[in-house]
Amino acid sequence: MFYVEVSGLTKRYDATTVFEDIQLGLKKGEFATLLGPSGCGKSTLLRCLAGLTAADHGQIRVEGQDITHLAPQKRGIGMVFQSYALFPNMTVAENIAFGLKMQRRQPEEMVRRVTEAIRLVELSNKEHHYPHELSGGQRQRVALARALVVEPRILLLDEPLSALDARIRRSLREEIRDIQSRLGLTTVFVTHDQEEALTLSDRIFVMNQGRIVQEGSAETVYTQPATEFVARFMGSYNLLAPAEAKRLLGLELKGHLAIRPESIHLSEPGHSYPAHLGVPLTATIRQHQLLGNIIRYHVEAQGTTLLIDHLNRSADDLLPSGAQIALLIDRQQMREVH
Ligand code: ADP
Ligand code: MG
Repeated sequence: MFYVEVSGLTKRYDATTVFEDIQLGLKKGEFATLLGPSGCGKSTLLRCLAGLTAADHGQIRVEGQDITHLAPQKRGIGMVFQSYALFPNMTVAENIAFGLKMQRRQPEEMVRRVTEAIRLVELSNKEHHYPHELSGGQRQRVALARALVVEPRILLLDEPLSALDARIRRSLREEIRDIQSRLGLTTVFVTHDQEEALTLSDRIFVMNQGRIVQEGSAETVYTQPATEFVARFMGSYNLLAPAEAKRLLGLELKGHLAIRPESIHLSEPGHSYPAHLGVPLTATIRQHQLLGNIIRYHVEAQGTTLLIDHLNRSADDLLPSGAQIALLIDRQQMREVH
């Protein structure tokens, strides 16, 4: 049995169906991510879990208990939003203590737990500051501490890093993951950023237009996209239409052929690859992008453009536009998707 179990969950606003018949199971202590494009229903689903929005049909169970109609404060859920949602007229410590005050905890217990939460998010010298005196990353850590201080059964995070700049986003996501795994806290994280989802998650639920279209480990979702949508969404997959797959590789397919850019090998013209490895082709370099440790080549093979990711070992390796190359598409890594 799952720790959190969602079944047949449906939400409509008048004629708009936000999501329909959502099935979802989370294990205790798992870091799960809802990943999908803007508008696919992630926030609404999270709000239904938190009890901030009522679902039309279906059930939410936690530890076997039906919480579908339970008030938000009785669910044992902590939530963090993209917009921090801090009280501007309260200090860091007062913001964090808020939930405990609502629960009418004893003053000594409040002080102890607030101090602990502040230490957990490393804001120990900021407890008497006001939100406007903090950076975005610090404000989000206050919001995280405020959610954690009530010792929730489940932590829900709705795009908590989206408003932060890239460097802070990366360091805070590691902190969140670290705190989550230390506390063994069952967590649902929402994002539209596939890199964020891949780095953080035990399990990813990919959503599109109100449906979960794939569920799996980060590794599985990335290397084995179930549909054309997932392949497109997960990054820079090469997607060959059936006619291109036929022309280039002699394959008769109904769906698209998904090929990851890092599963295409490239070398000097005339290089002959052992035939069992895959399909050899000749191609011309059209352009490249430097992505730090990776060089992403755009090459043309028989009228089809392919992206190839090549490890950037040395500046001497860079191939100029117009260069002819031999390439090999790894047979094991090709996937037909619909
Ligand atoms: P996401 O978080 O994935 O971007 P949302 O859950 O915010 O998606 O929204 C999903 C869809 O539901 C959108 O089309 C949005 O316009 C619609 N929606 C969300 N909240 C409301 C509401 N209160 N009233 C009407 N439509 C809504
Ligand atoms: Mg949203």
